[in-house]
Amino acid sequence: MKRVAVLGAGGFIGSHLARRLKDEGCFVRGADLKRPRYAASPADEFMVCALRDPQAARAVLDGGFDEVYQLAADMGGAGYVFTGAHDAAIMHNSAQVNLNVLEALRERPAGRVFYASSACIYPEHNQLDPDNPRCSEDSAYPAAPDSEYGWEKLFSERLYLAYARNHGTTVRIARYHNIFGPEGSWDDGREKAPAALCRKVARAADGGSIEIWGDGSQTRSFLYIDECVEGTLRLTRSAFEGPVNIGSEEMVSIAGFARMIAAIAGKRIDLRSVPGPTGVRGRNSDNRLPRERLGWAPSMPLRDGLARTYAWIEAQVQAGRADGGSAWT
Ligand code: NAD
Repeated sequence: MKRVAVLGAGGFIGSHLARRLKDEGCFVRGADLKRPRYAASPADEFMVCALRDPQAARAVLDGGFDEVYQLAADMGGAGYVFTGAHDAAIMHNSAQVNLNVLEALRERPAGRVFYASSACIYPEHNQLDPDNPRCSEDSAYPAAPDSEYGWEKLFSERLYLAYARNHGTTVRIARYHNIFGPEGSWDDGREKAPAALCRKVARAADGGSIEIWGDGSQTRSFLYIDECVEGTLRLTRSAFEGPVNIGSEEMVSIAGFARMIAAIAGKRIDLRSVPGPTGVRGRNSDNRLPRERLGWAPSMPLRDGLARTYAWIEAQVQAGRADGGSAWT
């Protein structure tokens, strides 16, 4: 039986990934500060611990693993990472986790190590035009991410690659572009744009209005969670060693995205622009490399994933549930 460890298994992507690996028949050890909030973890073992502690990282990785997926990070949407209020914590906590995990793995080599980086590493100057952002993997340098979150990701990418060079660690690195889907933060201050906009539409009356941050012409692409998990597994098990975009190429404006959600909800909703942390003006995945090197790229239309996500968030709102409540035990 393949043994895998999922670090960050209490989070959005980690909990979906753990479920998929269990479905494949793997033995799964999960680790996180907390258990998943919206469903019980499918992991065979779940260690609640802080990977900022080197001893905890060693304990989690004891026993030997064929695959290690490192998704633990101090992380959130624009309201968390772009305000500047959490910069020190984001850089310190996430870097510390990655330093500890790699040292633990040096002493306990794993078959393959996956690291979740982000499109936030791409230079701001290539993302000023909302209609023509440039996010090919080779455009990362000269580096100029627009957030400390992005700088930490870039540092950690280099750290994983350095361990590959100097210690023979087999690493695979994805640059995720805006992953969304059910069972992610939707109202706890760390939610990202898709969940936040679904929540606002779900709470709005037909004929009402919702706030959007900025003028709404900023562009993004969004990848549904199942496709993210598929890309993560394909990349980890591939022969390709450099960072790879895992994202959708279906770029939309934030206003267009909000209108798509309103249409799914069957509501007439006006959009009210308010000042807020918006990040770069434009961003889209560039999937030439995954197509060439993995023989794969995501294909699910945005609307399909959004319909599933809206249904889940609407159910939370209808049930009067609060996000950020107690974790499953
Ligand atoms: P998430 O916040 O839901 O999951 C991250 C998990 O890491 C959380 O459950 C958190 O408790 C855990 N964690 C944080 N610090 C820890 C520590 N010291 N010890 C143990 N666990 C700790 O975020 P997510 O959306 O699932 O993202 C997973 C990974 O993918 C992160 O590394 C994130 O930066 C990256 N990523 C996500 C997106 C996205 O759109 N969701 C985009 C780009 C990159």
